[in-house]
Amino acid sequence: MAPHTKFMDNILDPPNVYESSHVPSKRQMSSETDLQYGTVRNFVGGEWNEPDADGQAVINPATNDPIAHVGFSSEEAVDDAVTAGKEAFEDWHQRPVEERIQPLFEFKQLLEEHQDELAELLVEEHGKTFDEAKGELRRGIENVEVACGIPNLMQAGHVENAAPSIDETAVRQPLGVFAAVTPFNFPGMIPLWFLPYAVATGNSFILKPSEQDPLTAQRMFELIEQAGFPDGVVQLVNGSVDTVQAILDHDGIEGVSFVGSTPVAKTIYEQGAANGKRVQAQGGAKNHVIVTESADLEFAAEKTVGSALACSGERCLANDVAVVEESVYEEFVDLVVEEAERQVVGFGLDETTTVGPLITPDHEQQVRNYVETGVQEGAELILDGRDVEVEGYENGNFLGPCIFRDVTTDMVISREEIFGPVLGVMPASDLDEAIDILNESDFGNAASLFTSSGADARKFRHDAEAGNLAVNAGTAAPMAFFHFGGEKDSFFGDLHAQAEDVVRFYTDETIYIERWPDA
Ligand code: NAD
Repeated sequence: MAPHTKFMDNILDPPNVYESSHVPSKRQMSSETDLQYGTVRNFVGGEWNEPDADGQAVINPATNDPIAHVGFSSEEAVDDAVTAGKEAFEDWHQRPVEERIQPLFEFKQLLEEHQDELAELLVEEHGKTFDEAKGELRRGIENVEVACGIPNLMQAGHVENAAPSIDETAVRQPLGVFAAVTPFNFPGMIPLWFLPYAVATGNSFILKPSEQDPLTAQRMFELIEQAGFPDGVVQLVNGSVDTVQAILDHDGIEGVSFVGSTPVAKTIYEQGAANGKRVQAQGGAKNHVIVTESADLEFAAEKTVGSALACSGERCLANDVAVVEESVYEEFVDLVVEEAERQVVGFGLDETTTVGPLITPDHEQQVRNYVETGVQEGAELILDGRDVEVEGYENGNFLGPCIFRDVTTDMVISREEIFGPVLGVMPASDLDEAIDILNESDFGNAASLFTSSGADARKFRHDAEAGNLAVNAGTAAPMAFFHFGGEKDSFFGDLHAQAEDVVRFYTDETIYIERWPDA
């Protein structure tokens, strides 16, 4: 696998109250002929077609110009995809596993070849920087690579002489048609947490990407078409809430993978399960970083700011609270501000940019509301990025880094997901208190500790309640050969995305009990 450094530490992940003064109507329609990327299409049964119901504009967040139009697919359109998926499954799951992974090797190669082009498109519709977009795609490709090892991942267990003259074997078998519903913040990576594993295990798969930035998925599906999957095995269905409802209600869909905000994740989990489906639903987050007095403070500040501001803070792994041991609190606060002041806010394709725009004016306003709330709650705003201006991009959804100090656990800004370039710093008397603070959170997605004490690290590993823990690293997404953790209100279900967990989600384990009496 190709190396990737910055993004290892900085990868990954609600958004709205919007009265924009500078954008008249953000989702207004333009004549489709004016749109750089035209109308977004579905890919169903090996054919491209336009969604059958009206939708919304896809907007470049750096300019607020519409660049495409995405229609929403109706119940009938979802049904067409499920029918095609079921037909495809009949043949696909009978094919030898080695044959099923060949199009994945091809897809991986095409993703590598088109990585720069995909990254540019991703920047235009999402706003993150080019390096972040490339890093995101790299982490997606990593999942295709891991899924190519499905002959190993699908192996279950075998016990000889499990009982007198009896051998027992577990066999993982695909189930049929699965769907995934994905969020706006990683349009290139998150679909690949699921897609390659679903099809490699022998299922057919339907992706419903975010309507806010569906172009990257469409381009990836053009590559999927070239990669040689049989028609109907991998399908793209664009849409919004009604389309997701049709997916949840459809009897022909065995299971749904969801990634998005907590309230929606919870609803998807409840409705999907009530309809008899398998569901894995990853939700929102509030991630803490703990800094102890033995930490390398400069390094910790650099990583903390990186994790807070990467992808403009629109990451489920963004650490938006730093809990710092009192003895090094003042020094750490200064270092964090220095590091945040070095960031350059701008258009994601400008080489100097390190912090791009937020996804929509609504979301920008929501993050600004959180900053105002923090001020009213009494936290001290020691770096105020609200007046940032980006020359040439006066209409973009830009917000500069905002750093609060003396945040307390009762404040809204220390409890709710902000999803923007905002970091709150608070003191704690010792590691125990810091861990208690993070464990009080409703969320449990990720947490980091900076320390030079093995004993501290060990305590953190045992006691911190979050699914992805890091020591001396920013809040980072695990490599694709480990599952992506998540606990409490950050995850609803049993089996997570990526690796063996998702293979188990996409298969049923049949137990085969065999007796051959001695001749
Ligand atoms: P969102 O919940 O608004 O949308 C996610 C998906 O659900 C989209 O495809 C959308 O079309 C669909 N959707 C939205 N509302 C729906 C409804 N009422 N019923 C059915 N479907 C609905 O999330 P978002 O704004 O796109 O993404 C940001 C959120 O995702 C943040 O909370 C972030 O923390 C979370 N996230 C979590 C992870 C993780 O791994 N835990 C990863 C990435 C993002």
